[in-house]
Amino acid sequence: MSDTVTIKRKRGLDIMKVREDFPILRTTVFGHPLVYLDNAATTQKPLAVLEAQDRYYTTINSNVHRGVHFLSQQATEAYEPGRKKIAAFIHARHTHEIIFTKGTTESINLVASSFGRKFLQKGDAILVTAMEHHSNIVPWQMICEERGALLKVIPVNEKGELVLDELDGLLKERVKLVALNYISNALGTVNPVREVLRAAHGMGIPVLLDAAQAIQHTEIDVQELDVDFLAFSAHKIYGPTGFGVLYGKEEWLNQLPPYQGGGEMIKTVSFEKTVYNDLPYKFEAGTPDMAGSVGLGAALDYIQSLGMDNIRTYEHELMAYALDALRGIDGLRLIGEARERAGVLSFLVGSIHPFDLGEILDKQGIAVRTGHHCAQPIMDQYCIPGTVRASLAFYNTKSEIDALVTGIHKAIQLLG
Ligand code: PLP
Repeated sequence: MSDTVTIKRKRGLDIMKVREDFPILRTTVFGHPLVYLDNAATTQKPLAVLEAQDRYYTTINSNVHRGVHFLSQQATEAYEPGRKKIAAFIHARHTHEIIFTKGTTESINLVASSFGRKFLQKGDAILVTAMEHHSNIVPWQMICEERGALLKVIPVNEKGELVLDELDGLLKERVKLVALNYISNALGTVNPVREVLRAAHGMGIPVLLDAAQAIQHTEIDVQELDVDFLAFSAHKIYGPTGFGVLYGKEEWLNQLPPYQGGGEMIKTVSFEKTVYNDLPYKFEAGTPDMAGSVGLGAALDYIQSLGMDNIRTYEHELMAYALDALRGIDGLRLIGEARERAGVLSFLVGSIHPFDLGEILDKQGIAVRTGHHCAQPIMDQYCIPGTVRASLAFYNTKSEIDALVTGIHKAIQLLG
């Protein structure tokens, strides 16, 4: 570990120094310094990630596993450590419990398809929550339709918290798997996943956690949580796009049939019979994203050098500051007021359409997201078409929150 990194770790985060690691943050937009508050959609990449991927393509690139030649071996040696780093990062028992995918969406589709084909019968059910991202609804809907199963929903109250009183009753309705997000991308709610896991496991039901919005904000120990499946995307944790992870307990992964067929996922192929490969390759058909693994590995090294505890403490402070600041704006209504929240602030201002507010903020260099955030069912529950969403990362500053507040006031003056 370098000296600067050790200093950062001991003393908490020096945010201005950290920002220097992210070249894109120096961008100006319409003459204003970029204020990037769209981190729930995707995070920016530190130089460490950009350089690792560049180095991979300029010096190592070759196809992995099958080659005897020098570069192919180098590529394999660069690619596989990513899996080890991820396993260590989420405290998986085995490296082969880490399956590489394109991202959270593909990870969930993999489980929905494989688990559904193996275990879902007519009349069975999958249980999700009312605040899921479409990626944790539609794959289940598709497999339920195919298998004649039902999709059931844990309700959410006005504050944006799960109504757990109904959980035990719902679980008894032939539920075969529970799939829920750890942190909601639409509301910022941190869900009581331990309680859900305890209740589900009490009835022998496995749980999949969509950790797309949690992996970058909170430490995750899959063994301590005792979660059965966990999905996340590299691009939301400062890594590259198009790459992601499915963690699955070995005993579950061994029971599931392959998701896709092709190269890499086989041991032997004949026209009469194919013998599938061992974990993790059984679920990794085709040439993998080598640079993706290298990039995610570099991202994990980078954030570990800052210290997850430092990140959590700083983000907590920033969230409290932002909540106070937004609550001080006349006519601003937060959508989702859960006691436990992280990363995301969703809101509406008076009768201003979220899209109009987003455009005015954009003209001031402030990047927020507007719309339903791929979570239409929860927007429907609030009877709104969408919100403005500001989402935070550890490189955001209090002065950026001040800029957001000034921007909102400007929009109120113009449109309010
Ligand atoms: N789940 C949640 C909670 C998300 O926030 C997202 C993306 O915003 C996804 C799933 C889908 O992630 P990806 O598009 O990276 O597959």
